[in-house]
Amino acid sequence: MDDEIICIGCGAKLQSDDPKAAGYLPASALAKAESEENTDVYCQRCFRLRHYNEIMPVDLNNDDFLALLNTLASKKALIVNVVDLFDFSNSLLSSLKRFVGDNEFILVGNKFDLFPKNSRQSKIKDWMRQEANRMGLHPKKIFLVSAARQKNLDDLIAYLDKASKNRDIYFVGMTNVGKSTLINAIIDKMGDIQDLITTSRFPGTTLDRIEIPLENGHYLIDTPGIMTENQLATRLSPKDLEIVSPKKPLKPATFQLLPGNTIFLGGLGRIDYLKGESVSFTVYAARGVTLHRTKTANADEFYQKHVGELLTPPVDTQDLAPLKGQEFRTTYKSDLLFGGIGFITVPKGCVVKTYTPDQIGLGIRRALI
Ligand code: GDP
Repeated sequence: MDDEIICIGCGAKLQSDDPKAAGYLPASALAKAESEENTDVYCQRCFRLRHYNEIMPVDLNNDDFLALLNTLASKKALIVNVVDLFDFSNSLLSSLKRFVGDNEFILVGNKFDLFPKNSRQSKIKDWMRQEANRMGLHPKKIFLVSAARQKNLDDLIAYLDKASKNRDIYFVGMTNVGKSTLINAIIDKMGDIQDLITTSRFPGTTLDRIEIPLENGHYLIDTPGIMTENQLATRLSPKDLEIVSPKKPLKPATFQLLPGNTIFLGGLGRIDYLKGESVSFTVYAARGVTLHRTKTANADEFYQKHVGELLTPPVDTQDLAPLKGQEFRTTYKSDLLFGGIGFITVPKGCVVKTYTPDQIGLGIRRALI
């Protein structure tokens, strides 16, 4: 491709190799622009923003993101960290601690629609606050929302509206937490923003942020999603990711177990029951994740034989890292976490070992349900 063509919206070099990177334009459109020697071209992201009020995510690595955060500390801003409630510890941005400074910081837990109906919001928020505090973050407010279903957004929007009277609002988050879906939902609900985007001569799109003008002269600023190896989302093929990403509330599946039993969550998660009484474990996972019980003694062999076939997802096992485990003892009724896949509720007094590829997303919390 011609290196000289630059998006006139954001200044990124146009490219057609990576749809998630800055400056992306489908190959056909890029070829057309080149053949017509047209330099008045928008990348797909700027085009969609201008014409459909739609935010498209761009990925950024951690170094670039830290450079962006560095500019934040000196500004008056509200910082909104959007997190995935199903992969919370991996989507909380611990690096924010150094940059928040005197600025106000809030947490928005997305994908709340996936929690079973009887979940208590206060319990979920308490857990989020504890985890954030452990990482040195002190959110002033916590909201639980569903961006995709446009649920629980009113309180958040009212809060943002008030905060934006005297400062800009920065949205930050890892990739795949639903940040773009959330910002699109907010734009959709705030009619005045929509009008401003379409009428504003030039929505401020730069390489590392999209500035959405508000009526009061301040901005909502979308920063690129950050990727990490610690998210299952970055390890799976798009097809597998689609299967593990639940669309409907997680449906509990209960297993009566004795020590010496193992349950597989497809080929991506495993729990061995090591010590305790005869008890029931309740699995909360996306409906596409196949659950299998076997004897722990046979579990390794079972896995080798059936991963990618009986045990799916993944259907594509080529680059999958081996399952690695960590032991946990429950001193109260607890949820064993499999970041991005789901969780398993276990009674108190059990010793278990949980596994995921490279141990990503393993953890424990006091049971939420
Ligand atoms: P981004 O990378 O943070 O901008 O994330 P996206 O907005 O692209 O969303 C990532 C994935 O999460 C997509 O598959 C969305 O459909 C899904 N998603 C986003 N918001 C929600 C939500 O509120 N509930 C559920 N169940 N899924 C969501």
